[in-house]
Amino acid sequence: MIPENGIAMLREAGHEVDINPDDRVLSKAELIAALSAKPYDAVLCLLTDPIDAEVMDAAPAAKIFSNYAVGFNNINIEEAKKRSVMITNTPGVLTHTVAEHAIGMMISLTSRITEGDRFMRAGKYIGWAPMLLLGTDLKGKTFGLLGAGRIGYDAALMAKNGFGMNIVYYDVKQNEEIEKATGAVFRASVEEVLKEADVVSVHVPLLDSTKHLINTERLGMMKKTAYLINTSRGPVVDEVALVAALKGGVIAGAGLDVFENEPAMAPGLAECENAILTPHIASATYETRGEMSRVAAQAIIDALAGKEPQNLVK
Ligand code: NAD
Repeated sequence: MIPENGIAMLREAGHEVDINPDDRVLSKAELIAALSAKPYDAVLCLLTDPIDAEVMDAAPAAKIFSNYAVGFNNINIEEAKKRSVMITNTPGVLTHTVAEHAIGMMISLTSRITEGDRFMRAGKYIGWAPMLLLGTDLKGKTFGLLGAGRIGYDAALMAKNGFGMNIVYYDVKQNEEIEKATGAVFRASVEEVLKEADVVSVHVPLLDSTKHLINTERLGMMKKTAYLINTSRGPVVDEVALVAALKGGVIAGAGLDVFENEPAMAPGLAECENAILTPHIASATYETRGEMSRVAAQAIIDALAGKEPQNLVK
């Protein structure tokens, strides 16, 4: 189920809409069975739906797969191109929300908010103490950005303007706009950012080149006092290596909204007190999910009306 507004738009445009009746993600076999039921003209799919050749075969009449996400690593783009099937995503409308989540994780880690919350609920608070749960200031510290696209840019603005942090970044493309807006300084490699940053926030898409971008070796380059935040895609971080780094004091802590084998977590991660874990909800606000619904529906309406939809993945 997605917010109703997009579904209403599709119906108002004269389309019949079938919705997965179960409020859960379908397995690939279930997805294929569901798509095979009728000659669907369009599919609004989720980031958990593997849209590969077999799934496309199950929906041979579909002109468009409209992905309810900005990331489209769940879709075989080359296969879609071969078949002249349109693929769209929902960039932009979730940018600020995801950046807020990343920044929320940063401040929760450095001010030990979730740890403090667990401490209170466990009845461990027996009185104020000068050395209880000391955290780290952010002012004047270095925010290291990996991937200075839409979300990275917003996160950097918040780190700069909200917390007075200095920004260093690595991206495959240098970004003059972010440099002007935040004073961000480009570094020529991931390694340079990792060595320098007090907080590293990852905002790259999942590609072959970004799988395990953060691995044992690179975690070892980070400061012992540094934090890693990942709101991009789980496989960008080697999660087993991260658990070892969190347990071994290689880094101070981590905030993860995404996991390598969602919904599972790497063994031992749940026991790490210095990790903040959220269930892939970085874009989950009422406003943003409503906008994603609108944008995903509009792409289908345009495609079925013979127009080129916005946000066509090319
Ligand atoms: P974007 O395309 O605007 O930015 C991605 C940036 O990464 C680009 O600037 C690109 O040049 C850079 N990049 C690509 N490969 C790189 C590499 N190997 N090393 C360094 N930089 C590289 O995308 P966006 O809108 O900012 O979204 C970023 C990602 O965030 C999405 O692809 C998606 O996977 C993820 N996301 C997660 C959630 C969530 O719920 N947790 C929500 C939205 C987006």
